[in-house]
Amino acid sequence: MPEPLLKVTDLSMYYKTKTETVRAVEGVSFSIGVGKTFGLVGESGCGKSTTARSIIRLLPKTGQIVGGQVLYQGRDVAKMSQRELREIRGKEIGMIFQDPMTSLNPVTTVGKQLFESLEGQGLDKQGMHDRAVELLRMVNIPEPEERLGNYVHELSGGMRQRVMIAIALAPRPKLLLADEPTTALDVTIQDQVICLINSLKEQLGMSVLLVTHDLGVVNEMCDQVGVMYAGRIVEIGSRRQVLDKPHHPYTEGLIRSLPAEHDTRSRLQSIPGMPPNLAREIVGCPFAPRCPYATDICRAKAPGVVDRLDGHLVWCHHADESDRAKVTESTGILDPREEGAA
Ligand code: SF4
Repeated sequence: MPEPLLKVTDLSMYYKTKTETVRAVEGVSFSIGVGKTFGLVGESGCGKSTTARSIIRLLPKTGQIVGGQVLYQGRDVAKMSQRELREIRGKEIGMIFQDPMTSLNPVTTVGKQLFESLEGQGLDKQGMHDRAVELLRMVNIPEPEERLGNYVHELSGGMRQRVMIAIALAPRPKLLLADEPTTALDVTIQDQVICLINSLKEQLGMSVLLVTHDLGVVNEMCDQVGVMYAGRIVEIGSRRQVLDKPHHPYTEGLIRSLPAEHDTRSRLQSIPGMPPNLAREIVGCPFAPRCPYATDICRAKAPGVVDRLDGHLVWCHHADESDRAKVTESTGILDPREEGAA
């Protein structure tokens, strides 16, 4: 099997202050093959963005990687010097963040920001100009020549997002970290951005780590999916394994909370309760207070991993269907899957 482009093994990242330690990422492992898209999905605060930022060590002062390993092209990111990191950040590894205003420079023109991203490619002034226009055209920016002279505040939200994508793609990165790339956009622009990233992935052969709370976006973009809860991955597998045959109650809950296509009458089901406070020690399964299948063992012991089939991994004491049926029968609760079907 070919080596993955990115291999994350048992990664843990904590925010440490004088008064508390927040265990934001706990023992996360996954890998991304060349030309593949891996989606990290979950509610806000589940650790997915922090995982993405930990990969390139783009963390605030309070953030510390306390365990695990990140291998990029077989090189240990933790052992890279700041200079080596700067070399790969934005060049080999491109980044798109949710809010373009935080990553674009408000006092520099779009053109200048694009030229900076094109440095080191051996282009002369005219070559840089032509390539910058080509990039803006590639992300469907109208009148690209004129836009080069614009400042960020002169552009609409959708255009800013596309400019940020153009800047991220200018150095032809091998890996794109896309953190909620479509959240701030309206639906039509969202679709355009998804199509754009997918087609550029094909053209450039790049890999993508997509961070999102939106399972619809996962369905359109990802080859593999990891579902995160309370800083951990609770289910991982191919897109079809996870979306069509989920085995973790949290994944099931996320899928049930999606509106069904062409169905405007059924009530949407939400997951009751709140995620746990990651500054407190968690005993047992972190999802237990919200889980309809929780039993005594769930509250006492953290679940180990269960391999369902072909690398479809689930961290749950009752990952098995028949086991879950026994739980609902003995407790008398209504199985949420039947409730949704009723
Ligand atoms: Fe629910 Fe128990 Fe599975 Fe946790 S381990 S998700 S509480 S059934």
